[in-house]
Amino acid sequence: MDFGLVELSADDRALQLEIRAFLADLFTPDVFALEHETGSGFNAKVYEALGARGWLYPELPIEQGGAAFTPVQTRIMELELDRQDARVMMMKGTSSLPMAAIRKYMAAEVAEPILKECAAGRAVICLGYSEPDGGSDIANAKVRAVQDGDMWSINGSKMWTTGAHISTYTFLITRTDPEAAKHKGITMFLVPLHSPGVTIQGIRTFSGERTNIVFYEDVQVHDSMRIGGINNGWTVLHGPLDEEHSIGLDLNGGLSDVSIGAGFCRVLGASINEVARWALKTTGTDGKLMAENSRVLERLGSAMVDYEAGLSTPGPMGRVKASDVLVKQAAQLQDLVGPAGLLPTDAEGGIGVGDIEYAHRFAQGTATYGGTVEVFRTIIAQHVLGLPKAQLPGAKVFLSGKKK
Ligand SMILES: Cc1cc2nc3c(=O)[nH]c(=O)nc-3n(C[C@H](O)[C@H](O)[C@H](O)COP(=O)(O)OP(=O)(O)OC[C@H]3O[C@@H](n4cnc5c(N)ncnc54)[C@H](O)[C@@H]3O)c2cc1C
Repeated sequence: MDFGLVELSADDRALQLEIRAFLADLFTPDVFALEHETGSGFNAKVYEALGARGWLYPELPIEQGGAAFTPVQTRIMELELDRQDARVMMMKGTSSLPMAAIRKYMAAEVAEPILKECAAGRAVICLGYSEPDGGSDIANAKVRAVQDGDMWSINGSKMWTTGAHISTYTFLITRTDPEAAKHKGITMFLVPLHSPGVTIQGIRTFSGERTNIVFYEDVQVHDSMRIGGINNGWTVLHGPLDEEHSIGLDLNGGLSDVSIGAGFCRVLGASINEVARWALKTTGTDGKLMAENSRVLERLGSAMVDYEAGLSTPGPMGRVKASDVLVKQAAQLQDLVGPAGLLPTDAEGGIGVGDIEYAHRFAQGTATYGGTVEVFRTIIAQHVLGLPKAQLPGAKVFLSGKKK
């Protein structure tokens, strides 16, 4: 791993300043207020303004709605967005997961206009994987798609479809052959969410993020919205799933985050900064600043070490490490500052903008979404360490979903 600094050219430095100024104007207080109120991970004004410049997916060629940024320029954009509010940009990350599969497996005349709308910030794609019966074993999906000529009829329900209420499409796993082995009987669709028969019911999570249950009742979808072959959905899903699992990530020439867990760590980073500011202006019972108290410094140091470890651990290990350190340190930091650390944004007597309290609430969900840390440990054992499939008591029933 190369920890060396990247020297920016004069042009890249100028671009960095241009992006920074543009984002500072774009991320106005009303953007944060709306996100706090809705928890949607999305803001139409922000997405469309970025899309208009090709800056939402700036690594894409210009003809695909990007800005043909180099890897260094793409990294500059990622880091500048992180300086703003990662929460508002969540649905950009979700939309981007199926985009390569859509380009690869759908007819170009159908896919290209949709992808351009995504790049322009006018269309968003959510992930319709998990179901009420279970999210870890997504190949066991039961939402049914039945073909009738050029149309498919979709019935069933999906759970935890984050962003469905603001999305244009859902990247949907359906079961098309109930008799086949579970991985061989699924087909992927890009379902327009404004279709008749789609009902979206919101769920507000502990972190304030909104997710949804989505019901599909005789939803009619044209065959042109099928992604890849019938019953070949598992092949289509591989790319987006591997990316979400941080397997074989494109590291943008070694510049990008080494795992999806880095996003979790940024929330911890914000909390550490908040505690540091608190320590620099808060006096202890001995009359000294908290920042002069060796035990406070030791605990801040421990949080920083964990934060760096979370950011630098690659692949699926990074996903688990980042969640583990966030859960542990978010609680530790809250404990360090005392009861004021329990107060949310804008509460009287709270600390800063509530980052300490938010980190603790956000941390809990990170052990679950995008695959639980338990499932990730199995992925690490099998795909990274090359160990055989788990043979724990009951594992055959648990892992395959079938009684043996
Ligand atoms: C805030 C939030 C947002 C989400 N957003 C989305 C989204 O946008 N789209 C989407 O499709 N899903 C989404 N999810 C769903 C998420 O991916 C699932 O919750 C997750 O995969 C676990 O599935 P489950 O909740 O059904 O738990 P289950 O799969 O029922 O698992 C229950 C428990 O069993 C354990 N377990 C299950 N299988 C194994 C195994 N093989 N080895 C060891 N332990 C195992 C799990 O770790 C867990 O502790 C979201 C979830 C949350 C909380």
